[in-house]
Amino acid sequence: MKKIDIVIPCYNESKCVELIYDALKELFSNELKAYSFSVLYIDDGSKDDTLERIVKLSNAENSNVRYISFARNFGKESAIYAGLENADGDYVALMDADLQHPPHLLIDMLHAIEEEGYDCATARRVKREKESRIRNLLSNSFYHVINLATGMKLAPGMTDYRLMKKQVADAIVSMREHERFIKGIYSWIGFNSKWIEYENVERVDGDSKWNYKGLWNYAKTGIIAFAVAPLRAVIYLGFLVILISFVYGVRLYAMSISGARPWQDTTTILLLLLFLGGMIILLLGIIGEYLARIYMEVKNRPIYIAKEKKLDVDKD
Ligand code: UDP
Ligand code: MG
Repeated sequence: MKKIDIVIPCYNESKCVELIYDALKELFSNELKAYSFSVLYIDDGSKDDTLERIVKLSNAENSNVRYISFARNFGKESAIYAGLENADGDYVALMDADLQHPPHLLIDMLHAIEEEGYDCATARRVKREKESRIRNLLSNSFYHVINLATGMKLAPGMTDYRLMKKQVADAIVSMREHERFIKGIYSWIGFNSKWIEYENVERVDGDSKWNYKGLWNYAKTGIIAFAVAPLRAVIYLGFLVILISFVYGVRLYAMSISGARPWQDTTTILLLLLFLGGMIILLLGIIGEYLARIYMEVKNRPIYIAKEKKLDVDKD
């Protein structure tokens, strides 16, 4: 019997912990009864009773629930890492706790891997009803920018909901960088993946943990973690500005010797100074950003710190 490990990152998901477990149990006792499953909850430093509820589930008789609980909130990417690192089934699935990732898609995902020869399958949301327009626009432009800057092929609406062979999970775990951007990592490691499309679902309980600041940081990490293009673009921009100032200078000089216009023009100089000053600041900002990342990597901190865990399932 093949085993599927389902990794579920949870941050303040109190009610969802049981809801998702029940949904999975239902699925694996009907459509997927040919497979065994275990759930690996990653409690990402929740402040509510999420951990208590997980512990309760794991203490039930014959429980197939395991968990890792972080000492503080390390973010979803770290939670995913911890889950993949500790998963040991034939297949590993990644799923949100809020039931926005419909468990029944696992059926299609399994089919893609076992019958169609894919190494993994990724869910893609095709409609985002009820979400704000600005958010949609921002999210679509994010994918355009990131694909342009990095040469990766990320699709709008792609989610973290995936099923993969153990081998793919191991490949992801072998990338030990700290500024993690999992969608880029999927693309970087290769393997062939099938898109499984589904319509957007509302979360069953609680609120989304994302705000605009979080999304902006997410986009920034995605681009900087996978591309040197921004750095290069600034170098070309620098060249262009130097060229413009050179041409402009020659023109002013020519005008002054022909007597068309006297040389002293403090306004243009002031404008030019401002422009160059702005350029330098921009360049320093970008270099600073890269330096900050190098600094973080060099420190070689662990990606997460577990406070407590239970990783062995009692078998009897
Ligand atoms: N999550 C997490 N750590 C965080 C934020 C979120 O583990 O710091 C989990 C959260 O519990 C959920 C999943 O990541 O299972 C997706 O979060 P959310 O539903 O807030 O994101 P959205 O669906 O709005 O993109
Ligand atoms: Mg959600």
